Amino acid sequence: MPPALSVLEKTFGYSSFRGQQAEIIQTVIDGGDALVLMPTGGGKSLCYQIPALVRQGTGVVISPLIALMQDQVDALAAVGARAAFLNSTQGPEERARVEAAFVAGELDLLYLAPERLRVSSTADLLDRGTIALFAIDEAHCVSQWGHDFRPDYLQLSMLHERWPSVPRIALTATATDATRKEIAQRLDLTQAKQFVSSFDRPNIQYRIEAKQQPLQQLLSLLRTEHAGDAGIVYCLSRASVEKAAEFLVENGIPALPYHAGLDARVRASNQSRFLREEGLVMVATIAFGMGIDKPDVRFVAHLDLPKSVEGYYQETGRAGRDGLPATAWLAYGLQDVVQQRRMIDQSEGDLAHRRNLTAHLDAMLALCETIECRRVQLLAYFGQASTACGNCDTCLSPPETWDGTVPAQKLLSTVVRLKRERNQSFGAGHLIDILLGKSNDRVRQHSHDELSTYGLGQELSEQEWRGVVRQLLAQGLLAVQGEYGILVLTVASATVLSGSRKVMLRREAPRPSKAAKRAIAADLPGEALPLFERLRSWRAEQAREQGVPAYIVFGDATLRGIAVTRPATLAELGGISGVGEKKLEQYGESLLEVVSGL
Ligand code: ADP
Ligand code: ZN
Repeated sequence: MPPALSVLEKTFGYSSFRGQQAEIIQTVIDGGDALVLMPTGGGKSLCYQIPALVRQGTGVVISPLIALMQDQVDALAAVGARAAFLNSTQGPEERARVEAAFVAGELDLLYLAPERLRVSSTADLLDRGTIALFAIDEAHCVSQWGHDFRPDYLQLSMLHERWPSVPRIALTATATDATRKEIAQRLDLTQAKQFVSSFDRPNIQYRIEAKQQPLQQLLSLLRTEHAGDAGIVYCLSRASVEKAAEFLVENGIPALPYHAGLDARVRASNQSRFLREEGLVMVATIAFGMGIDKPDVRFVAHLDLPKSVEGYYQETGRAGRDGLPATAWLAYGLQDVVQQRRMIDQSEGDLAHRRNLTAHLDAMLALCETIECRRVQLLAYFGQASTACGNCDTCLSPPETWDGTVPAQKLLSTVVRLKRERNQSFGAGHLIDILLGKSNDRVRQHSHDELSTYGLGQELSEQEWRGVVRQLLAQGLLAVQGEYGILVLTVASATVLSGSRKVMLRREAPRPSKAAKRAIAADLPGEALPLFERLRSWRAEQAREQGVPAYIVFGDATLRGIAVTRPATLAELGGISGVGEKKLEQYGESLLEVVSGL
């Protein structure tokens, strides 16, 4: 058996490589360089861990994610690999211990924070041991135009200058072509073999719905489909994070807040609880994210509209890294569009910058309003062609469209009349009041009941009118302006008013999701469920005793495998995906007892 496959089976307990893993791993084992682009959850870690175990010496992993190094080292120790890290969180004694182990050749993997390479003593240390390979994780951090730029990454080209014969593998989940070219150039990897995987995440179900009572909508999603699951809820502001977290807790769902306004210690503790405990919901701003390695995040929910498709894809990508079903859910409404347009108007920076922001927002809106497959649109955004996926809301229950030309004309002509006859402009709320023929203070004060469109829109509800406004905004047939979000016409509005353009809209009424309940447990055959639950509590206890996250003991996929096959012997247990030699030895007997119900 080739050594790579043997390590995969014996150490990690997996039976076959995924995607391009085998090729990548062989390239590095043979001493070649590799540049790897793989989506989150694709299995990047094995691409450097297995070569490090097969090749002579220590694999040196450069990673910016200091907070996660302990977990990575624990996960390796759990499968019997010898790993350690060097970063600023350690005292001199511990550092000395790690350094000695490295020099003595007792480490399979050594994780290094990039800033450690700034000091010459680190390079000297590396000279004293044997280096099997360099792995550069989160390689997009070298990109100056990206969102995660780390100046320390720029000096990583020195690795090649100083140790020309050591193979290097750079890895990232960031997709665009431009970033890939920049990485290759800056890290001196233009000669490296490039491995670009599909960016599809087939196990994530994408769903986007109209915002009505967002917190209630969220609660119902969590109760009906994700009871007891871990997940992330993203909000735009600190205040809304606090509010949503409180709301969930009041409704019996264990949730924690995370945003830049919290004390660093509280933040660290909330993050560590999220990683370690089961079934916690993290309500966060986008400050929470990069490197969240937790494989069993079952849902990512957005209560506010993300600013770009890139951001949305990266955030939703944190769901379902273990390959099991997961949900990406977004609620968005008229207010989101108004607010984001306003933020762009008021943003600092020149016209080109604002155009750039607008283009990002428009792409995001187009994704929200599409009546085609969400995944096709997402992947197309990243330059990959695909066909309807069968696992997004528009595929599962195709949205109905309706001819909204007449309502659109009524709304636009109200805008026109107010401007022409009164020289006034208003936001969506008041325009809808006029169309619905409401008689409130503002209507009376301006005698808007004398307008010819007053009361002309009673065929639609207020909610439906908001949907019309939102979709007109998304289609560029209407625009918002200024601090108060007043609505104004665009160049394209004229084509609607003149009747030369038909306006197709998607129907607003919340469509009952045809998606079956897909909570992980619900996916199991009924008779396996009690055992799965027993295995979960067994795992929680093991994790607590050792002070490690539950997934380091076993992932959900492995527990499911055990619950379904009910192994009766150690040999049978060892055949289950995720059970390697070390874990079989450590947990085998205890697991067989749980299975047999003793
Ligand atoms: P990434 O770093 O690309 O986000 P990871 O390396 O964390 O992904 O892998 C994601 C999950 O997939 C982990 O739980 C890992 O153990 C699992 N995995 C990786 N490769 C395989 C494989 N060949 N067979 C089964 N599971 C795998
Ligand atoms: Zn689809």
